This record gives sequence, C-alpha cells and structure tokens, in this order.
Amino acid sequence: MIPVKGVEGQKLAVLGLGRSGLATARALREGGAEAICWDDNPAARAVAEEEGFACRELTKQGGFDDIASLIVSPGIPHLYPKPNPVVLAALRAGVPVDNDIGLFFRSVASGEWDEFVTLPKVVAITGSNGKSTTVALLHHILEHVGRDSQMAGNIGRGVLDIDPPGDGGVVVLELSSYQTDLARALTPDVAIFTNLSPDHLDRHAGMGGYFAAKRRLFAEGGPDRAIIGVDEDEGLFLAGQMSEGNGDDRVIRVSSGQKLTGAGWNVFARKGFLSEYRKGRQVGSIDLREIKGLPGAHNHQNACAAYAAARCLGLAPRVIETAMMSYPGLPHRSQRIAEAGGVAYVNDSKATNVDSAAKALSAFKKIRWICGGLEKDGGLEGLKGATGAVLKAYVIGREAAEFAMQLDVEAEVCTTMAAAVQRAMAEAQEGETVLLAPAAASFDQYDSFEKRGEDFIAEVQAGLNG
Ligand code: ADP
Repeated sequence: MIPVKGVEGQKLAVLGLGRSGLATARALREGGAEAICWDDNPAARAVAEEEGFACRELTKQGGFDDIASLIVSPGIPHLYPKPNPVVLAALRAGVPVDNDIGLFFRSVASGEWDEFVTLPKVVAITGSNGKSTTVALLHHILEHVGRDSQMAGNIGRGVLDIDPPGDGGVVVLELSSYQTDLARALTPDVAIFTNLSPDHLDRHAGMGGYFAAKRRLFAEGGPDRAIIGVDEDEGLFLAGQMSEGNGDDRVIRVSSGQKLTGAGWNVFARKGFLSEYRKGRQVGSIDLREIKGLPGAHNHQNACAAYAAARCLGLAPRVIETAMMSYPGLPHRSQRIAEAGGVAYVNDSKATNVDSAAKALSAFKKIRWICGGLEKDGGLEGLKGATGAVLKAYVIGREAAEFAMQLDVEAEVCTTMAAAVQRAMAEAQEGETVLLAPAAASFDQYDSFEKRGEDFIAEVQAGLNG
C-alpha cells in the first residue's frame, strides 16, 4: 500500500466504494487521515463499514463542513453528462475534488528513495485503444529482464494498493480519460499517448473534451519523456506542442504504418517490422510478424509504444526483442481461443468501440464476424471501409436488427451469442476466422466485456464438443 501523504489529521471523503475506492480509504487511513465514505449502493457501504470506515450522506446540509477534499472513483461523472450530486455538493462547498491517481502522484516518492541506486520510475499510459496491451507488454518486458515492475490503475491493482516501489522499481499505470481529467497531480517520468478515436464522448462533452482530458497527462508537470502516437492529428499536435524543435528527443514519435523521418527520436512499424531511428540513424529493428501475442497493425503500434518506453528505461533493442517473443497476449484482446477444422476462433470482446473493432478486422482475413451490442455515440460510420475481409456478420445485442442495417456487409440478425456462434460455426470453411469484435459496449446483455468474451468462449467450446 502507498500511504497518502500530507493528510494527517484531516478528514477526506471517498465517493464510490469499488476496488479503487476501498483501496483509497485504506491508504488515507494509513496516512493518518480519516476517510468518510459514500456509495449509493448500501451493500458497498456495508463492506466499508465492516472495515471500520464511517459512511455519511454527503449531500445533506453541512455534509462537507469538516472535509478537506473529495476523492471520486472513475466510474462516477464529475462534470459531464452531469456531475454526480455529491461532487456538485463538494464543488458548491468549495471543497477540492481529486482522485486516487492525484493522491498517488503526491505520495509515491518517499525518503527511502534517497538511499536507492536507481530511482523508481512511473510510466503512465493513456489513449483510446491499446492501453492495457501496452501496459501488459511493457510489464512483461521488464519482468523478463528481472526489473521489479508493478501494473496498476485500470489494470492490475488500484494505484494506492501497490507495494511502494523499491530500488530501480517501475510502476506501469494504465490511465483512462476519466482519471486523467480529474487528477490534481499527474507527474509520470514517462508518459504514453497511444492513439485517439471517439469513445466516452458523453463523459467529456465531445471529442475536444475527450482529447483535453487525455492531454492533461502531458501538461501537468511534464514527463521527462513523452511517447506519442502520431497517426491522428491530435497526437501529431500534442507531439508538436511538447517538443522544442524537431530534434528534441524528449518526445518519441510512434506510428503504425508511416515511416517517420526527422531528426528526433522515432519508433514506427511498417509491414510487420519495427524500426527505431534517432538523430536520423537507425538504431534498432524487430521483426514483429513472428510474435504470436501481437497480431495486426494495431498491436504493432502497441509494440512500438512499449518498445519506446523500455528504451527510455535503458533496455537494449535485442533484449526487448527477446522479451516480446514470449509475450502471451491478454484475454479478450485478439485472443486465439481455439482452432478446429482449419477455422480459427478469436475473442476480441474488448473491441467495445468502432475503431478497435476496425483494427481487429484488419488483422485477419476471411472473417465471420460476430458484432453488435450497445452502440456508442458517434455511430458506426467508422466501420465503413474496414469490413473488406468480412464474409458475413452475425449480429448480437438487444438492438441487433438496427445494428445490422447499418453495416455494409451481409448481416444476419442473431441477437444471442449462442445463435451467432452456432450460425458462424455452421458456415465457416477451412482457412476462415470466426472473430468476436463487437464494436459496441456489452451492457445491454452482459455485466462486462469480460463476461461477453467468456460467453463466446463457452459457446465455441460447446459447439466444438457437441
Ligand atoms: P484499452 O486498454 O485502451 O481499452 P486494449 O489493449 O485493452 O486497450 O485493447 C482494446 C481493444 O482495442 C481491443 O479490442 C484491441 O484489439 C484493440 N486495440 C488494441 N490496440 C489497439 C491500437 N493500438 N489501436 C486500435 N485498437 C487497438
């Protein structure tokens, strides 16, 4: 646990008592503060009370009178589409609002660090897609070379729940736009921006707000190294804003598809090969086509970002290459779950938005595509032109018929996962891939994208055994 600094003797309120909320309450207590908790769900409050935390209805008159700060969980809207009533009450009472990420950056360094030979480093990763993959890949590389590495944030443990990093330790953080938008301190040593495409627009009042939220990771304090995907205008702009000139190697530009020339520090992947150029000279290259855990150009973008971060941490290209070879991949992201009769079955349930689904579709050939679910703001426009390898779509979700109508490929309305898998399996021929890449959220039929992916796996296994 990381005890929160600078809060001794104070009362802080914690809103939202999920995994990260409870970890925050404990870290506050460890730091000598009193955590006053709230969650609309009585069961969540009961868990906190059992651990000895007081719960208080903070919206009541005077609820914030003795509170120094309000710490909000990422699932709770702090501004758009509408602030949660507790957040609004704090703002009206003039109480600062923060989150566990802000507390983490304020608290992670300790006096012990003075004795360390190598100072611990924090690498923070944001972007629309590829965050988890990039985090997991970097963590894998670091573990492979024997560095003490911990994953935290949206993946692994809550940030305040990790062990204080030791001599030479690395903390690899996955940060969503909700988290970067609110944190009052954001001071990673290395920051990564993977890419940007429309997602969560309701929480940021549109694309501009969404980009602004992610950008804060680079604005507040400024990382020593900024690794920035420049395949969209926003990334290109951010890289430009961060650098002093085109030879400034504080910024590492990353691309999947473009050759990046220029005097600075560049890492790009083209036709399956990763190249690193620094001051106009090639200093590293890796054949990514051989890496089973990273299929497709989108994963090559993640490979470039993780590679660049590993380089910033002092690792040599060959060492990184060897480590990448054994990267196993993450569940629900381009996860090959079975192969039978020459047909491959791939679970990419995490393709919850249009861009990630389009990327998954570009990584395979002859696709029987299971898609659909709760459609996101921005519609399905972005799928146009991405469906070239699709033989047929099998559409799931409560609004499957409406979803199917918007696709530019032959589509069958299946509604349930069971029906979609059955139909796709029955029609699949040797050499084809049955791919779950929904391009939609799962909440109309499932609790989470993980549950949706597990259902897909279960149906495929039932079909293969039946
Ligand atoms: P995140 O944590 O940002 O959601 P993940 O690594 O979990 O990212 O991947 C989410 C989804 O996006 C998966 O469906 C995956 O196939 C796809 N994806 C992964 N990397 C990228 C990328 N660099 N660009 C676009 N899509 C990607």
